[in-house]
Amino acid sequence: MSHGYGACHKLRKREESTDTLLRDRFLVKSVAKFCKSLKDFGERSMPLFKDQVRYEMKQFVAAAFVSNEEIKNEDIGIIQEADRRLTNALATKNVSDIYENYSLSFNRLVVLMNTSEPKRHGEARLLDPSGVIRHTILTPPFNSSCIDEEDMNFLQILTEHFVRKFEHDRFIVCMFSHFIPCTESKHQCARLVDEFAKLNNEVIISSENVYYETDHETAWKVMKSNDRIYCLPPKELCPNSNQSTPLYDVDEPLSPRMLRRENRARVQSNPYQRPEKKKKKGFSRQKSYDLRT
Ligand SMILES: [Zn+2]
Repeated sequence: MSHGYGACHKLRKREESTDTLLRDRFLVKSVAKFCKSLKDFGERSMPLFKDQVRYEMKQFVAAAFVSNEEIKNEDIGIIQEADRRLTNALATKNVSDIYENYSLSFNRLVVLMNTSEPKRHGEARLLDPSGVIRHTILTPPFNSSCIDEEDMNFLQILTEHFVRKFEHDRFIVCMFSHFIPCTESKHQCARLVDEFAKLNNEVIISSENVYYETDHETAWKVMKSNDRIYCLPPKELCPNSNQSTPLYDVDEPLSPRMLRRENRARVQSNPYQRPEKKKKKGFSRQKSYDLRT
């Protein structure tokens, strides 16, 4: 892909809070509308993954490549269009045109799960398909066996869809990740997002929970130090939260115990979601959270 203006961009470390960065660039409510829509969309799509993989996964990344104008105009048509197809797939159980290898694709929008073989997180599947970034940031060194040659190149595909529509490649990666991009040594998703934004396009990131192996302070610090990454505070995702929409402060990393509690809360608020304890037998408890290893 062409890097547009990104390759020449000089990163300026800024001390201001990300709230200021975000407010300087966008209307917070417009960004929140996109991120909330992506969060809802990703959560609604989870039953399709459960039907495919036979065990419950929590972590997903829902991302759309959007234009400045779409955010400015709060035009979430791309998410609404995908939502119509998702509704149809949920009703018919026919996912043949949208599902492949732990992913759902809709034009400029994808939902990505982590994969266990090879071990990859959704952020890397989207932003670092060839491992170029991970080669530069991981210690111990990135193992090329972690590249799945069979995986779709989502970065290329979404970029092509964007360029076809807008005739330029200055898309903004708008992303909701259930767990904040991690700081695990084998993945370093927070740093990966940071490097991507330095070299390529702007990124809007929102997240709701912290996985217990992630150092959330470091993760936020890494991403907030980049003035091309706009972090939406979790409180903006659901400013009028009530009992039926449990929302945890990201300053409270979720332990396995808390993850189970969160799952129960979700089931209570959504009786149509199968409780975790009813998942198929034969998989370890660790694996049932998500595939973070
Ligand atoms: Zn990660």
